[in-house]
Amino acid sequence: AKKAGRNTLRFFDPNMQEVINARVELERDLRQAIENKEFQLYYQLQVDGDGRSLGAEALIRWNQPKRGLVSPFNFIPLAEETGLILPIGQWVLDAACSQLKAWEQNPLTNHLSLSINVSAQQFKQADFVSQVQTSVQHHAINPNLLKIELTESMLLDNVEHIIITMVALQAIGIRFELDDFGTGYSSLQYLKKLPLQQLKIDQSFIQDITEDSSDQAIVRTIIAMARGLNIDVIAEGVETDNQLAYLRNYGCNHFQGYLFGRPAPINEFETLLESSRRY
Ligand code: C2E
Ligand code: CA
Ligand code: CA
Ligand code: CA
Repeated sequence: AKKAGRNTLRFFDPNMQEVINARVELERDLRQAIENKEFQLYYQLQVDGDGRSLGAEALIRWNQPKRGLVSPFNFIPLAEETGLILPIGQWVLDAACSQLKAWEQNPLTNHLSLSINVSAQQFKQADFVSQVQTSVQHHAINPNLLKIELTESMLLDNVEHIIITMVALQAIGIRFELDDFGTGYSSLQYLKKLPLQQLKIDQSFIQDITEDSSDQAIVRTIIAMARGLNIDVIAEGVETDNQLAYLRNYGCNHFQGYLFGRPAPINEFETLLESSRRY
């Protein structure tokens, strides 16, 4: 069997070998990145219907010496496959708590919440609740300002366990958002059971919302349903005034998107905050 396995290598497409090499190299660099702390959080503003700042979403970036700034699309999948998402996720949690502490100490920013993205694998760790608790205590932050974004696809397996973890985290004050809502498979049955504060309408529904009548119907339905369940709604990927006007008209009052600001390093984000105070 071994021989056959080796023989099959001869039929490998040379491009396939390149793909494998690139992957091996990326994994090696990613391990280095964790050791060398090459990650950085970018912050994207979240606002209410009057443009007032509510908080931010933390989005990871990888500053790699030879690759430059790497988008999460290009390393989160591999991090998930290799388990490296666990130390990376720990770093994100700690960096976010540290930033929340800094905001808490300034009266201009002490109302801001910070949302972090958590992968399924990370959330399912047996000690995830204690990791969060430890980080919250270590930085002595108000846990109500830390939000965790989960995706619908996480609910596909072992939803009971996920609910138990959510309830335990909620008990220490953490709040939850369901990310990319509308793109997954979450049953309304789960939605009712999950301790959620917010649904995040996926940007794919927002993009053509001013023209596409199906997107309009979907978004209006999500807004109405969330209201019925007493859950907030935030629209992501809002880029134009027309999209904003449409969403506001149908009762959505939390927004995130390029219209209000692109994800940016902390200094730029804080400069943007200063200017958005004029609203
Ligand atoms: P996401 O959580 O759905 O994040 C929203 C993505 O949409 C971000 O891409 C953001 O930059 C982008 N975006 C925001 N506003 C607009 C807009 O108005 N128009 C358009 N076209 N795009 C907009 P980003 O930063 O490249 O992140 C991609 C994905 O990587 C995230 O999608 C999330 O799933 C994942 N990710 C990011 N940071 C982390 C992290 O710390 N941990 C984990 N596990 N995943 C992360
Ligand atoms: Ca997110
Ligand atoms: Ca999203
Ligand atoms: Ca997404």
